[in-house]
Amino acid sequence: MLEVDCPCVTPEAVLKASGHVEKFTDLMVKDEKMGTCYRADHLLKDFGNEKLEKDLSLSAEKAAELRHLLAVLDDLSAEELGAKIKEYGITAPDTKNPLSDPYPFNLMFQTSIGPSGLIPGYMRPETAQGIFVNFKDLYYYNGNKLPFAAAQIGQAFRNEISPRQGLLRVREFTLAEIEHFVDPQDKSHAKFSEVANLEFLMFPREEQMSGKSAKRIPLGEAVSKGIVNNETLGYFIGRVYLFLTCLGIDKERLRFRQHLANEMAHYAADCWDAEIECSYGWIECVGIADRSAYDLHAHTEKSGVALVAQEKFSEPREVEAMNEKEAMEMKAALESKGEVEFYVCTLGKNVCIKKNMLLISKEKKKEHQRVFTPSVIEPSFGIGRIIYCLYEHSFYTRPSKAGDEQLNVFRFPPLVAPIKCTVFPLVQNQQYEEVAKVISKLLKVAGISHKIDITGTSIGKRYARTDELGVPFAITVDSTSSVTIRERDSKDQIRVSLDEAASVIKAVTDGQTKWEDGSSPSPHFTLLSSLIVKTTLYILISIIWGPLKIIFKRFKSDFEKLKINL
Ligand code: AMP
Repeated sequence: MLEVDCPCVTPEAVLKASGHVEKFTDLMVKDEKMGTCYRADHLLKDFGNEKLEKDLSLSAEKAAELRHLLAVLDDLSAEELGAKIKEYGITAPDTKNPLSDPYPFNLMFQTSIGPSGLIPGYMRPETAQGIFVNFKDLYYYNGNKLPFAAAQIGQAFRNEISPRQGLLRVREFTLAEIEHFVDPQDKSHAKFSEVANLEFLMFPREEQMSGKSAKRIPLGEAVSKGIVNNETLGYFIGRVYLFLTCLGIDKERLRFRQHLANEMAHYAADCWDAEIECSYGWIECVGIADRSAYDLHAHTEKSGVALVAQEKFSEPREVEAMNEKEAMEMKAALESKGEVEFYVCTLGKNVCIKKNMLLISKEKKKEHQRVFTPSVIEPSFGIGRIIYCLYEHSFYTRPSKAGDEQLNVFRFPPLVAPIKCTVFPLVQNQQYEEVAKVISKLLKVAGISHKIDITGTSIGKRYARTDELGVPFAITVDSTSSVTIRERDSKDQIRVSLDEAASVIKAVTDGQTKWEDGSSPSPHFTLLSSLIVKTTLYILISIIWGPLKIIFKRFKSDFEKLKINL
């Protein structure tokens, strides 16, 4: 993947070509007296949810109708939303004044570029367009080969009508986007088999429309049955699932919801949102879309620069520009009407051809390559939303040792925890502090973010403090030659030698070794665990040996008696 970093301020021409100037809108309604603006779909959503939660007199039929409305809300046109607002008598939430009809509001922040103020521009509403306009160079950097991807992380700006839900809907946010370019005639993916066996909650369009809930479907089956449009889209759905769950998102509160027909941009072949459930409900955190060849077509047309790829043939192929039947039909139409509509695939649209513009004759030519506009599959990650949900999914409380208070813990996996480790001298003394500083240096060299706490606070309190910050490991200096490492969630401890402490922490935070696997990152680790196992076995055997001997003796004497009787 090629990483790029494009400017946030984008010339109007780019966003006109992409369709954002005309279509990047949300439907808004206004308080007719006060002028306050609201998002039309949000008002209906709030109305529906409140009715379903609080109105005890609601008939089963009405409740089903409201549930259906909530399921298809994103699919409604301005007229349909307006009609529903009227039907339910929804008014402005703050004043109860009547509302205007819904009308589109463009979400982009406008600006002007340069001192004259004559060049209009916008703050980018997504990072993707920067990649599309640079396609030609990116394709070249990739050795003119497909498939390939470019990725970008940066700020996106949207003038949201009513930002709410805390950090989930903001006007400036971090977006991470991948644009994966692929041959439209071959959307298979070489690594699909690596994700095909994953099984997780999917919410296909049909299930939503019929009021059913999300269900567990193996990804391979979803692709082979055509629920997911193609392998490459399926591959990215699988990778997004692995990414989110690896960060610490709860598998049970993650689902992939397919866009409804109208919710999806008209050009998109298929689109799925990774939705995460949190205290605000199910929130779209990653959008994964097959945008077909729309973007590259659109920029080609407006800029006049062909954003295309070539497939070189090993042997030249004989081709006909049109098949004979089509050509003859076109000829006849030109004769009778004087002009015809003709679809140009590299432009992705119809053009008008007049009779005097062409001559129809039959010839075959040899082609050495195929020129085509690539399709693009785009996973688009809202970083702030993912992090917010991660906080909610990672948080839990547990009682203190004395049982008199509840302690907060963030169970961030070591890979994502901002601070990987803390270093504590067990008691305040010069020698232990020196050792703690040596370990801190070793951790720094190993590139492990850590905190050193040499305050005299009790060790229990210092553990509780780091648990609250989600620090997965604590190194306690309780001798000058070896130290104790404690894991946050299990509270298990191991002893390792002083000079191994940093490498053990590195192995468990890099993911080379899992703490719970017991597979050892150090010889001391094995030694210690095998010592523990052997000692436990020895104690167990000595405890049960006495009773075992008695049972064995009795069994022996019974057996002797039985033999005599026989
Ligand atoms: P979209 O291009 O609308 O599909 O948005 C891509 C991703 O950006 C979504 O999946 C969200 O995670 C995130 N996102 C969109 N709008 C906002 C916003 N106003 N505030 C924070 N994140 C957002």
